[in-house]
Amino acid sequence: LATVSHEIRTPLNGVIGMNGLLLDTKLDDEQTTYAEIVQSSGEALLRLINDILDYSKIEANKLELEIVDFYLPEFIREFSSMAEVTAREKGLGFSMVVNPRIPQHLRGDPGRVRQILANLFSNATKFTAEGRIRVQISMESATGHQATLKFSVTDTGIGIAPEKQGIIFDKFTQVDASSKREFGGTGLGLAISRELTEMLGGKIGVDSTPGKGSTFWFTVVFGNPSIQTPGQPVMAEAEDEIVETEPTMITGRFKFHRVRLLLVEDNSPNRMVILNILKKMGLKADAVADGKEALDSLSKISYDLVLIDMQMPVMDGLTATRALRQSNELATRFNVPVIALTANAMPEDRAACLEAGMSDYIAKPIHPRTLCNMLQKWLPDAEIKPRSTF
Ligand code: ADP
Repeated sequence: LATVSHEIRTPLNGVIGMNGLLLDTKLDDEQTTYAEIVQSSGEALLRLINDILDYSKIEANKLELEIVDFYLPEFIREFSSMAEVTAREKGLGFSMVVNPRIPQHLRGDPGRVRQILANLFSNATKFTAEGRIRVQISMESATGHQATLKFSVTDTGIGIAPEKQGIIFDKFTQVDASSKREFGGTGLGLAISRELTEMLGGKIGVDSTPGKGSTFWFTVVFGNPSIQTPGQPVMAEAEDEIVETEPTMITGRFKFHRVRLLLVEDNSPNRMVILNILKKMGLKADAVADGKEALDSLSKISYDLVLIDMQMPVMDGLTATRALRQSNELATRFNVPVIALTANAMPEDRAACLEAGMSDYIAKPIHPRTLCNMLQKWLPDAEIKPRSTF
């Protein structure tokens, strides 16, 4: 399934990426409508592939947690900036309430917690036509070694009849079959969320009133990070509510330095898509087709950042990055941030990237906003044009 998923993602990258660029060109109303349908269908297909891959990994007991120390305020900032934009796009209000007693440093799997929260949030926006969505993080219980946090997402949407509330966490179930046509979806999201929550030592549930709205909640048990002594403090600012957090969009306000990027990608439609996105951000980029050419170029030009595909003929991304990091000749450039672009969505692929000396990782198909956030992270001084369509 992982291989099939990879094989499906690569051409999808071309479809979604190219269509995104098409949407940025001058189209009449009819053409815009068609291209938007292509876009949302492509994205729905991608979500479906991701869900099926996740669910099959869970069923095969192959899904592994990635337990790391992380900083909760950073997690909250990232999540709320995404959520705020999504809510605003649908004309909904958004607020995020965080209990100030929650420890800032936690140990757990932030990626999977984000996945569950994002899934509940996306359902909340999907089933709410007007009103607001409120995300709350509170402390359920704490011992010296562990903290159990409760995450909840409250909407003012259509709600769920009491007799249906028990079944929606089963796979492939939806409240009524007709909602499939109206709202789309596979009925896998909550089933995956329930499995993930259980893996994280927690529970998941819903309180809902038809016609009024729903609150979906889940709990997760976190450990104390290795660096933290027990009983250490909590969120510094006793701020209770984060409302309308600044989106992590690049504003261009503090950017002065003109940067030059190297794109290493063998697939020419993908190359075109990414180069075009970079161009629209006002960034200068050169492209080469394999790792060997990349090393060649890096020996001549001091690039500020490298975007590199994992699987390429002649020399793949991992080998090229290892060679770059170990090279004496390229010593002056060996610190350059190298971001992997890959259709492989497995955690072990991510680990392989980091092991080879790559700095970060973006899953294909490349979404302009993700790429933009990634570049902002690694090139804080770069002058990058804000793109309203992101
Ligand atoms: P999907 O959304 O892909 O259909 P889920 O497993 O995420 O699958 O959700 C299953 C069903 O539960 C949805 O189809 C919908 O009927 C119901 N549901 C989930 N979240 C909400 C919500 N916030 N408000 C109303 N109904 C919901």
